[in-house]
Amino acid sequence: MTSPIWHPFTQHGLGEPIPEIARAEGATLHARSGERYVDAISSWWVTTHGHCHPRITAAIQAQAGQLDQIIFAGWTHAPAEDLARGLTDMLPASLAHVFFSDSGSTSVEVALKMALGFWDNRGTPRHRIVVMEHGYHGDTIGGMSVGARGVFNRPYQPLLFDVASIPFPEPGNEQATLDALEAECRQGPAAFLVEPLILGAGGMKTYSPALLAAMRAICAHYGVLFIADEVMTGWGRTGSLLACDQAGVVPDILCLSKGLTGGAVPLAVTLATAPIFEAHLSPERARMFFHSSSYTANPIACAAANANLAIWREEPVLARVAALGARQQQRLNALAGHPKVRNARRLGTITALEVEDPSSNYLSAMGPTLSALARSRGVLLRPLGNTVYVMPPYCISGAELDLVYAVIAEFLDR
Ligand SMILES: *Cc1c(COP(=O)(O)O)cnc(C)c1O
Repeated sequence: MTSPIWHPFTQHGLGEPIPEIARAEGATLHARSGERYVDAISSWWVTTHGHCHPRITAAIQAQAGQLDQIIFAGWTHAPAEDLARGLTDMLPASLAHVFFSDSGSTSVEVALKMALGFWDNRGTPRHRIVVMEHGYHGDTIGGMSVGARGVFNRPYQPLLFDVASIPFPEPGNEQATLDALEAECRQGPAAFLVEPLILGAGGMKTYSPALLAAMRAICAHYGVLFIADEVMTGWGRTGSLLACDQAGVVPDILCLSKGLTGGAVPLAVTLATAPIFEAHLSPERARMFFHSSSYTANPIACAAANANLAIWREEPVLARVAALGARQQQRLNALAGHPKVRNARRLGTITALEVEDPSSNYLSAMGPTLSALARSRGVLLRPLGNTVYVMPPYCISGAELDLVYAVIAEFLDR
């Protein structure tokens, strides 16, 4: 029986199997067919504490029977109020205003619109956005415009808006990145948008906290808004609550989504400083922030996020993250010397390496081959081109992690 579903980032013409998952707990996915899979990529980077976490599940169940949905333009509710207060208590004090949306892509769209609105409402319109090479910020037209261009957005390129792109800080060439950012900042752009410390979809490419701090300082010096896209890096993924924390960096605008609800239901926030909020504050309706989506601050999603924040406040999440980082490093070390492995690296809970492959590109056959092998061994892996990475839920067991690395080792030895 063929399904009417059109899956994301899936070539249906290849006829690859599409397992049906019926149930999940911790780092384990249970298929309807009875197979079990270790979720080595946190279901596309969203699941932090583990699937169906009891505290988050209970919060969703309780809220669903109380208030399901309410318009958020001019109306409010306790789950959103609690979440906004919880976030502002937990995050740097200058990020005082919380705008809700429902995905990472929209949190970035909101950030861009806030930056443009800031300059416009001050009577000094600016429209240019500076980004980093290999960046990824979502799949909407705006998100694609500020992200890397490639085969995955080639048909849409004529409609993508123009941005200034600075080179990725390759080791030994960091100064070129800083010089390019400074040259762009002298032209008076609206904002610089970047993924802090690690470029996710661009291939888990890492750079140092010192470089992040230096880029932040350049933006501050030239009065260019600094937008941190922590959609992937937030919620402990890189070893700290935010990746920016490791560099002592506080952005003007911060995007959070994937782990905000622990990965249970969709929700996003864009936080902004007082000057950005105040630029939109006026007795004139024409200066309000013109953005909304139907499910802005959905109460059930907010309740899930409040449960996530409670877990962060009451449980030793950063200690778990550190322990997972150490276990990840051990497994990575065992592979790092393999003749086919290049550039084995770890940032917090994430490990990544490149597999030597002369025909390497995003569509290289390597990724699907490894994914298929992993599937047959009971592991969910999805390489980015020839970059293999492991980004598990924080509760993954030692035995599950061993299975993940055994599959990668088997693939390398083929
Ligand atoms: C995943 C991701 C996004 C897009 O988030 P969606 O929820 O998939 O729209 C944006 N930025 C970064 C850094 C991401 O990793």
